[in-house]
Amino acid sequence: MDKKTVGLSSTLKANTVPKSFTKNPIRGTKFTIAISSAKGGVGKSTFATNFALALKSTGSKVGILDADIYGPSLPKMMSINNKPESKDGKSLTPIEQYGIQCISIGFLVDKETPMVWRGPMVISAIKTFTQKVLWNNLDFLVVDMPPGTGDTQLTFSQEIKVDGVVIVSTPQEIALLDVRRGIKMFDKLKVPIIGLVDNMSFFEGDDGKNYNIFGEGGVEKAANDYKKKFLGKIPLNIDLRVAADSGKPLFEKNPEHNISKIFLEIANKVKESFL
Ligand code: ADP
Repeated sequence: MDKKTVGLSSTLKANTVPKSFTKNPIRGTKFTIAISSAKGGVGKSTFATNFALALKSTGSKVGILDADIYGPSLPKMMSINNKPESKDGKSLTPIEQYGIQCISIGFLVDKETPMVWRGPMVISAIKTFTQKVLWNNLDFLVVDMPPGTGDTQLTFSQEIKVDGVVIVSTPQEIALLDVRRGIKMFDKLKVPIIGLVDNMSFFEGDDGKNYNIFGEGGVEKAANDYKKKFLGKIPLNIDLRVAADSGKPLFEKNPEHNISKIFLEIANKVKESFL
């Protein structure tokens, strides 16, 4: 390796893994849980909304912060079309829907406006959402992170007290490679990983057989390899997709659905880790 390369790699290292930083708790919340995925489209937001509703059903007060600035999905998934109020021009009051306090950049911009923002603007939006939102006495704030290992993950991990991360993945190889990177990132940044969830795990056919469309067992294996908890498998299910598209998550629509029961089991496991 020449001098230049060495210099670059040590700069990157210094930038990505600082030795010390202050982590601020988010005002108005007891615990902050980040929902993360290494790849987009693995069902992270679907998980975040149903998981938040399942947590609420256990008697907790819950909020969702949509931290996906480039691709906010909370307005659509929770049918929220109004703008949050700001009583003093500085703070934002979250919008309550289905008993969950919600905030998203999507509440502030036109639905079809692309967020063509540079990193510093994204960081500034994240800071506004973590410092200026008037969360009302929450037990859990569920943060729907953007996919990957970028600016938002770094800002959260370094500056905000994140009490735990749930990593969602589908079981195919290409997603699992990124999952391993995600685990390593949170470990390095000393953010506790609560556990891993295998989404779109299998499809139950009309013939009663389970089909492993995206492969089998990979997420659980990644959890075992890194000594993390495996929180459960959510099948590929049309009711879950239809409910998400309709703006009313399946757990809200039908808490007795088999899939809703899986979300409840996972919510209970996560809650137990805080008791
Ligand atoms: P991400 O937040 O990871 O980008 P989404 O939650 O937006 O992913 O999900 C992507 C698409 O997959 C959505 O249309 C959603 O309804 C669907 N989806 C997610 N999980 C499942 C599942 N287990 N079964 C069926 N459809 C799912």
